[in-house]
Amino acid sequence: MGVFDPVLELGRGLLETLRSFWFEPTVTYQYPEQKREVRPRYRGRHVLKRYENGLEKCIGCSLCAAACPADAIFVEASENTDEKRFSPGERYASTYEINMLRCIYCGFCEDACPTEAIVLGDNYELSFLSRREAVYTKDLLLESVPTADGLTPRKVEPGVFTRSVPEMKDPTD
Ligand code: SF4
Ligand code: SF4
Repeated sequence: MGVFDPVLELGRGLLETLRSFWFEPTVTYQYPEQKREVRPRYRGRHVLKRYENGLEKCIGCSLCAAACPADAIFVEASENTDEKRFSPGERYASTYEINMLRCIYCGFCEDACPTEAIVLGDNYELSFLSRREAVYTKDLLLESVPTADGLTPRKVEPGVFTRSVPEMKDPTD
């Protein structure tokens, strides 16, 4: 190695810094004012979905909990009645919890769900100050109702919402 080689290498490094400073677009996001767009298949914080009529898609079957490799999901089911209905079919999730400290965002719960109730969304803003706060309860996970009359539980016409899993036509994914 020549005596001037380190100086040359230093000069090349500085030139590279100047080149990216002048000629490349800025990649710094002014978070939290400016949020970064995520990829279409990004797996962020879970959401428990509702049908358009406001009923909850989750039927408390626990398949997501069984599929979870991190044992992060806890589900407890209770019986629906037409006087007090949360979801179509016999049962609903009276307790639904996900421990975000255990979750590895693999998406197995989403794949296992027969009603497409649990979905990993695009929200990456997860912060908590204690272990208890890291356990997201059903209230936090359930999406808001599409219309004011779609709240659950609610009284429905007898014998209408008997089917737990909707009929799906030509599933493609
Ligand atoms: S994303 Fe994976 S680890 Fe997280 S709750 Fe779902 S199945 Fe469990
Ligand atoms: S989220 Fe899906 S798999 Fe999990 S309990 Fe609810 S319906 Fe069953």
